[in-house]
Amino acid sequence: MARTVVVTGSTSGIGLGVARAFAAEGANVVINGFGKPEDIEAARTELEGLGGGAALYHPADMTRPDEIADLIRMAAETFGTVDVLVNNAGIQHVAKIEEFPVEKWDQLIAILLSSAFHTMRHVIPLMKAAGRAYSGRIINVASAHALVASPYKSAYVAAKHGILGLTKTAALELAEFGITVNAICPGYVLTPLVEKQIPDTARERGISEEAVKTDVMLRLQATKQFVSIEEVAATALYLASDAARQITGTHISIDGGWTAQ
Ligand code: NAD
Repeated sequence: MARTVVVTGSTSGIGLGVARAFAAEGANVVINGFGKPEDIEAARTELEGLGGGAALYHPADMTRPDEIADLIRMAAETFGTVDVLVNNAGIQHVAKIEEFPVEKWDQLIAILLSSAFHTMRHVIPLMKAAGRAYSGRIINVASAHALVASPYKSAYVAAKHGILGLTKTAALELAEFGITVNAICPGYVLTPLVEKQIPDTARERGISEEAVKTDVMLRLQATKQFVSIEEVAATALYLASDAARQITGTHISIDGGWTAQ
């Protein structure tokens, strides 16, 4: 039977890549995120054409617990359960701590950390009820910034470190139910999220935008290359596979050697 996969923040970037990878395997996918209605509908239609599964869109704002509940409810009512949950939605804000807007801090913590708590608290009872050995998979798209810090990214780094703690706690609570919970920690991937922060970082550091790419983003990425969306998606597919059933409560880094230093 086709698995049902919910990916938050999947109208763009890594999330859309992850949705594509699961859809190509025949999964039913529920996508979520913001964007122009025509672009979202084009993505949804494309996903349905990849592997024969259904693709639905839900507009839940990840800062709104009630809307998150509705997203999971829609997935469960349509497909019967949720087999794979990928917490991926994210934004970035780059500023010194003393200048960091309070509402931005709250927004980043809500989207990057609290939303995963809310999706999980609704998905876990569904996964437990499904009762199939080693079936449930929860994958949190964290970051190299879950392991190390960079200046001017206080909310992002704090939330990403936090999601690793949530990942480990959930893994321990769910291990005996055959549900695994893991994080993926990518280095820099050239998505809209990263492209948007290049001008801000250039301004904060007083350097050119090209220098942000080579001297800031790729400085510690030992391969001197950006990670691709497809490489992150392949890691998600692996964590959702039977072969990964004893991998739980941990993370997989995919950062070109960044955090080896
Ligand atoms: P992106 O900007 O391309 O995509 C972000 C997605 O999240 C979009 O679909 C957007 O609509 C959605 N989103 C934003 N705010 C939302 C909200 N309030 N409610 C629902 N959806 C919302 O960014 P990306 O680079 O693909 O990032 C995806 C994840 O990967 C994020 O968690 C990010 O922190 C993480 N990540 C990215 C990189 C990178 O270099 N791009 C590296 C490590 C980790």
